[in-house]
Amino acid sequence: MTAAQTAADAFALLSDPSRVTILRAVAVAQYEQDPSSPGFESLAFSEIYDRVDVDNTSKLSYHLGELTGTYLRKDDDGYALTHAGDQIVRFILAENFHEPTDVGTIETDGTCFYCEETALEAGLDDQYFVVRCQACDRPVTGYIVTPAQARASSGEALLESLTRKQWAEFGLVQAGVCPECAGRVETDVYSVDDLATLEEVPISHFTMHECEACLRRFSGPLAYAAAFRTPPIAFHWDHGVDLVQHGWWELYDHLVAGQWTADRIATDPAEYRVVFRHGNAELRMFLDDDARTIRTERVRGRGGRLTEP
Ligand SMILES: [Zn+2]
Ligand SMILES: [Zn+2]
Repeated sequence: MTAAQTAADAFALLSDPSRVTILRAVAVAQYEQDPSSPGFESLAFSEIYDRVDVDNTSKLSYHLGELTGTYLRKDDDGYALTHAGDQIVRFILAENFHEPTDVGTIETDGTCFYCEETALEAGLDDQYFVVRCQACDRPVTGYIVTPAQARASSGEALLESLTRKQWAEFGLVQAGVCPECAGRVETDVYSVDDLATLEEVPISHFTMHECEACLRRFSGPLAYAAAFRTPPIAFHWDHGVDLVQHGWWELYDHLVAGQWTADRIATDPAEYRVVFRHGNAELRMFLDDDARTIRTERVRGRGGRLTEP
């Protein structure tokens, strides 16, 4: 059986609404369990029967049999969700299979890295969160928004939700972990000269991060890949800036003003230097050809040098 057939069979199991109802009932029952107990306890057949509207026990038994192995696992005490069951039931409960509600237009701070105007507005474009520049009418960043996220908050609160999610997810990516599937993420660094379609921007190098398992891709300026790590977050924090409260688009002014720069300083193997500047202080990060941190150093003024572990 091919992977596609296996996936099709797995989803065919959910074509009966009773089975979706059973998975929901198991999730709700687990949610209602004593939160102090370690992990979830399995649910006895009778507990599920009490919660699901099926004609008789033999029908429930049949559906549980069909779900077991893919969405449920069975032990001496009863039934519990498998990883697939857990993933699918949360997708169902969050109603993320609907279109996101329209969030309208949200004014936001930040600088366009094409025209350097501060005229950005955010909104949904084809169900995707996009920040556009009103001055030059170009999109400056985009990110996934889930229907549950668009329902949960609006306006400034939605921007904050997106910002926090992006920091958490891009932070994981920097550690080589896929935020979607927890598979391994590989990173490559590109020079802007390799990307013929790109217009002139104040960015010299980009990173491309790809999950080899689920094929999710992330990309961004090399300085951003470095910024999502502990030393730049700590450096900015020490200078009164909480980076993780700023949307990606709100940090472009650091690139436009030349405060954040990235250069290739060696080839074969390639080595990159990313510099974050604040006042007369600098944080320098040295990255290898997979954009992994080799070392960092802080420099203050013209004098003392402080090397971080
Ligand atoms: Zn613009
Ligand atoms: Zn993945």
